[in-house]
Amino acid sequence: MLRPTTLTASRTDDPHKFRRRGVLFVLSSPSGAGKSTISRMLLEADRTLRMSVSVTTRPIRPGERDGVDYHFVDLPRFKEMVAAGEFLEWAHVFGHRYGTPAQPVDDILASGNDVLFDIDWQGAQQLHQLAGGDVVRVFILPPSMEELERRLRARATDSDEVITARMARAASEIGHWDGYDYVLVNDDAHACFRRVQTILEAERLKRSRQTGLIGFVRKLMTPESSA
Ligand code: ADP
Ligand code: 5GP
Repeated sequence: MLRPTTLTASRTDDPHKFRRRGVLFVLSSPSGAGKSTISRMLLEADRTLRMSVSVTTRPIRPGERDGVDYHFVDLPRFKEMVAAGEFLEWAHVFGHRYGTPAQPVDDILASGNDVLFDIDWQGAQQLHQLAGGDVVRVFILPPSMEELERRLRARATDSDEVITARMARAASEIGHWDGYDYVLVNDDAHACFRRVQTILEAERLKRSRQTGLIGFVRKLMTPESSA
């Protein structure tokens, strides 16, 4: 279930101090195509972008940190959170449940930052239904299915069985490409990162987000200011 949230926070640190609405920036891809890699690069390059940390019922993997990569909870706790309306969106993925807690998103927006989401197509769809124009959805494709499998194996975090399952799901995930605003091929990671960064910068500058522009434009248009 979705609950309404305060998605109207504005930023004030633009060069001209225009207030603007925060961006809910969604990155999705089939597992292994590189969205964690691109997300890491974006977060390092941009201090005003903050990651939404999801809640999941899947077991923690070696190297993952609770509260950093995910909030790891058991199924009863997840169900409690659903019942209490604590999620902006949630979905079943790979036999487990994953959800975006609402409060941290509100807090990030209220502090004048933008939010980055690593969620699947179901989450992207729900978020878009909830927050419409505040959401920017980017889908990352692998250059080929062979390269996708090679990356999954090179990452060395999954068993053969899990890799086979991820490859089997990849085609159906790719089938949701048309539910996104932008679709990119992650051939060279740095080039892909640059394109994603360009998208974010352009989206931040959209007139519809620049709620503070109107005051500035009105001042420009008054006779005194041109004297
Ligand atoms: P995802 O988050 O989509 O599951 P990852 O970011 O974990 O994918 O990437 C999967 C593996 O592929 C990682 O080992 C990563 O270093 C590697 N990788 C990511 N992008 C590229 C790229 N453009 N070229 C080669 N390897 C890549
Ligand atoms: P993984 O278990 O490999 O970290 O993630 C599996 C899939 O779940 C990825 O496609 C990831 O984008 C998606 N996912 C992670 N968190 C969320 C979430 O909060 N909501 C939704 N809908 N999907 C999520």
